[in-house]
Amino acid sequence: MTSAGDDDPAEHGDRAQAPLDPADPYARDAQTFPRLSEEMAGRIARYGAEERLEPHQVVFSRGDRSVDFFLVLEGAIEIFELRDDRTTHVVTTHHSRQFTGELDLFNDRQILVSGRAGPASRVVRIRRADFRRLVQSEPDVGEVIMRAFILRRVGLIRHSQGGVVLIGPGHSADTLRLQQFLTRNAYPHRLLDTEHDSDAGGFLDCFSLTRADLPVVVVPGAGALRNPALAALADHLGLTERFDHDTVFDVAVVGAGPAGLAAAVYAASEGLQTIVIESLAPGGQAGTSSKIENYLGFPTGISGQALAGRAQVQAQKFGARLAVSRAAAGLECTQRPFVLRLDDNAAIRARAVVVATGARYRRLGSPGDERFEGQGIYYAATAMEADLCRDAEVVVVGGGNSAGQAAVFLARSVKHVHMLVRSAGLAATMSDYLVQRIERSAQITLYTHAEISALDGERSLSSVTWRDHSSGAETTRPVAAIFAMIGAEPNTRWLGDCLALDAQGFVVTGTKAGAAADSPYSTSQAGVYAVGDVRSGSVKRVAAGVGEGSVVVQAVHRFLHPVAD
Ligand SMILES: Cc1cc2nc3c(=O)[nH]c(=O)nc-3n(C[C@H](O)[C@H](O)[C@H](O)COP(=O)(O)OP(=O)(O)OC[C@H]3O[C@@H](n4cnc5c(N)ncnc54)[C@H](O)[C@@H]3O)c2cc1C
Repeated sequence: MTSAGDDDPAEHGDRAQAPLDPADPYARDAQTFPRLSEEMAGRIARYGAEERLEPHQVVFSRGDRSVDFFLVLEGAIEIFELRDDRTTHVVTTHHSRQFTGELDLFNDRQILVSGRAGPASRVVRIRRADFRRLVQSEPDVGEVIMRAFILRRVGLIRHSQGGVVLIGPGHSADTLRLQQFLTRNAYPHRLLDTEHDSDAGGFLDCFSLTRADLPVVVVPGAGALRNPALAALADHLGLTERFDHDTVFDVAVVGAGPAGLAAAVYAASEGLQTIVIESLAPGGQAGTSSKIENYLGFPTGISGQALAGRAQVQAQKFGARLAVSRAAAGLECTQRPFVLRLDDNAAIRARAVVVATGARYRRLGSPGDERFEGQGIYYAATAMEADLCRDAEVVVVGGGNSAGQAAVFLARSVKHVHMLVRSAGLAATMSDYLVQRIERSAQITLYTHAEISALDGERSLSSVTWRDHSSGAETTRPVAAIFAMIGAEPNTRWLGDCLALDAQGFVVTGTKAGAAADSPYSTSQAGVYAVGDVRSGSVKRVAAGVGEGSVVVQAVHRFLHPVAD
């Protein structure tokens, strides 16, 4: 505990009780809970006002929004959570020259933990707007704070602190739906799998729930939500940022995949008032990738979720607002400013729009596949899905890079991967490094000219049959999961007939979009741009999406502030 050497280790709660894994952020005290130098603390103090706190005075509570930043001068601030059994538990204690806060200080979401003074204390309170100014004007301090905030959130997730409990059968599609939502939004949670966990029964009794109510999300101190819709869960957890509906944003970015997040970072950092609307969670398709190995600057690869998490914080640091779990349902493109209608009937007004809604994986189309959606048929291969089929045989369908990555990733933990492609091989559709890994792996068998002919199982998938077109031979295996990665369809239905689309439904841009085209990303509607996978003819890669998202901001500037020739 380098940074809190003179405090009582008992006050650290869980952090002090067991030796910590070096990868655990709580083992990296000097970065996660840094003690600032006198000089840095002095500079920070100039952005706020000094206050005295009574012993145990509460300074912020779980569920509050827009809380201030506190620097401790004397005494201490304890950060605590409310446990499932309604007791409080101190997560950490900040002493002199240490500071409060984690990632929610960069947005308007409800915070996860509470804070109270230890003994009588002296602190500096820095208001939100001044905190933002501090981070941008003092880059060295901003870096220390940003690193600490990211590590603190990772610590909360790793130790399931300040979060919720998800109770349900691990193999149910709804449990997976809720777990994916919480994970992809980096919301701390603990899963009590009623198929395996002996504690689950006691938990259900405690909240007067039966197995018919499952899955449920238990929010400490606020009861249980029975199988909530994602938008309802997001609202309940305060994940959706609130904003004034009279605001006219300079630019609304629809979709928070790599392309949308890049557009948000560049637009916000260049001073445009920016809002991002995302129907599920930041990261898009890339967020479901276990490891992206061809993105510049990450020689050992980076998980899609880590990349998305960093990009989201970066966009918020520059002031972009993020409306998560809100889908754009329509664009009124004859009005100025443009009006985006959301699925909850709210409206967002913006002077320019960047469409970055990407694409989603095609359904398998095998007989009876709807029955096993989320209960054996998956469209992403992350650690969550891999856990569900540990030591079982699985099928990966598809011959592209995403299928190759999934096969290689799953081969580490499942019993065997059967890889099915319709064509004669992988060479034409997959990067060579993946083809080689698949060929070398004893855990993966490739079946060419293959197509699924039957699925079987009671409550979840248990067996799959596939057929070889060329020979007519059929193979049946006990299979717990199919990973369907067979190409994507654009998310453009919500655009109605506002923009010109190509025959497959992708947004046409550039000169092909008509006379208004002033950039390769202009659409048939002046002031509306399209970037990333949703764009007709785009290269379907993370780097391409990021590049397009960054570059489009220049065209948005030109549209908003035309310069006379
Ligand atoms: C499993 C997998 C592995 C991959 N691996 C790699 C790799 O290693 N390297 C690589 O370069 N590429 C990889 N790709 C491809 C890469 O992820 C995509 O090219 C990239 O994510 C496209 O980014 P995007 O922002 O254009 O769209 P997307 O990532 O599709 O993001 C679009 C976002 O828009 C949201 N959205 C959709 N409709 C609406 C709406 N109406 N309102 C609000 N929001 C909406 C979606 O929820 C989504 O978050 C992989 C893809 C997958 C699926």
